[in-house]
Amino acid sequence: MKIAMIGSGYVGLVSGACFSDFGHNVVCVDKDETKIAGLLAGKMPIYEPGLDALVERNASEERLSFSTDLPASVADADAVFIAVGTPSRRGDGHADLSFVYAAAREIAESVTKPMVIVNKSTVPVGTGDEVERILAEANPNVQNWVVSNPEFLREGAAIDDFKRPDRIVIGAEEEEAKRIMREVYRPLFLNEAPILFTGRRTAELIKYAANAFLATKITFINEIADLCEKVGADVQEVSRGIGLDNRIGPKFLHAGPGYGGSCFPKDTLALLKTSEDNDSPMRIVESVVKVNDNRKRAMGRKVIDALGGEARGRKVALLGLTFKPNTDDMRDAPSLAIVQALLDAGANITAFDPEGMDIAAELMPEVTMAGSSYEAVTDADAVVIVTEWDAFRALDLKHIAQIAAQPLLVDLRNIYNPEEARAAGLTYHSVGR
Ligand code: NAD
Repeated sequence: MKIAMIGSGYVGLVSGACFSDFGHNVVCVDKDETKIAGLLAGKMPIYEPGLDALVERNASEERLSFSTDLPASVADADAVFIAVGTPSRRGDGHADLSFVYAAAREIAESVTKPMVIVNKSTVPVGTGDEVERILAEANPNVQNWVVSNPEFLREGAAIDDFKRPDRIVIGAEEEEAKRIMREVYRPLFLNEAPILFTGRRTAELIKYAANAFLATKITFINEIADLCEKVGADVQEVSRGIGLDNRIGPKFLHAGPGYGGSCFPKDTLALLKTSEDNDSPMRIVESVVKVNDNRKRAMGRKVIDALGGEARGRKVALLGLTFKPNTDDMRDAPSLAIVQALLDAGANITAFDPEGMDIAAELMPEVTMAGSSYEAVTDADAVVIVTEWDAFRALDLKHIAQIAAQPLLVDLRNIYNPEEARAAGLTYHSVGR
């Protein structure tokens, strides 16, 4: 099949590369000329494990190409995917659909034959209807089918998630659209990935409901962690104790500094807007958003408390800046709020992150970026683990206790055993233990 992927970011590039690996002929389109020039020269615009090899193999076998020319790329496609960004709209938290509609208009002006237009971007209920209207208006004589196919991949494990998904959701109203989508995903049918066909509006809502539910699970265990600290319980044992119940499940029950990233924060807000617009309150999600927002800054205060309540002029070393390991994505990372809280209190911050420092340096110019974990930690009054990169899981804690100005470790991801950290000579604080 011939597939055009409009938008070559985290989702578009991974999806396009995986589709080409299944044997489809894929062109990944982006309006960012630097991104496409880089891809044509074999340079990945993002850090995602395994992506460079996957792209290189499929590009060299001529199943995967890159272009800035949208009209030429969609002209003879069987399916056109829209995978552009849908950030929060400034001011009101609605999903900003301007990129989706702009892409839809460009596609509408370029199609000359029947094809499916697939919305892979996360979009509020009803967006597919509007895309359909844009297509019909620009091109009344061509039959197109608009489908919703939300993406559930996680950054850092995106290729595996795409190739072995828990499920594929396809919201399609017409039989012909379903037939083409079955063909697109046929290689995954063979892997027995469950494919769920639903109405288009239902598919759009499934994505938001899934993200809001996961954000709720994280926020729930974070509040339990706070209670654990007050009553002398251990949140990790509570997580295990509840997670072994099949009705609850063990995933997304790790207490930490609050959820961040390019999806949960904006998608929970967008769902609240949809609920408001439809006069259908979602008080649980409302609370989740508020509790999580407060939590990120509270983690800065937790560090200040560990320093004895005074951070002015003290050096704080942050290990990890990205919102999670194995990505360079800094969008809405908890580190941003933690850094701000510490700067507001007068601290000097040094940080190290294996992949995120280039982007982070632009977002937090006051922070000194170090060349390694140990360089960041040297002479620090407090060391804070913000992101649980593998590189931070086996640090030499005794060495840290020696080279830091003060042997204080605040582990916001609970990756160390409290007894071991204390035995290494550190004053150790973690979350909910
Ligand atoms: P991204 O910002 O990494 O990539 C979007 C790309 O689209 C950019 O490169 C941009 O230049 C390009 N673009 C915008 N308008 C264009 C146009 N008219 N023509 C061509 N290219 C255009 O975004 P992302 O993280 O890949 O997210 C894309 C969508 O997928 C969002 O709706 C997001 O919510 C959703 N999603 C993201 C993830 C994730 O983990 N990142 C997971 C699931 C779903």
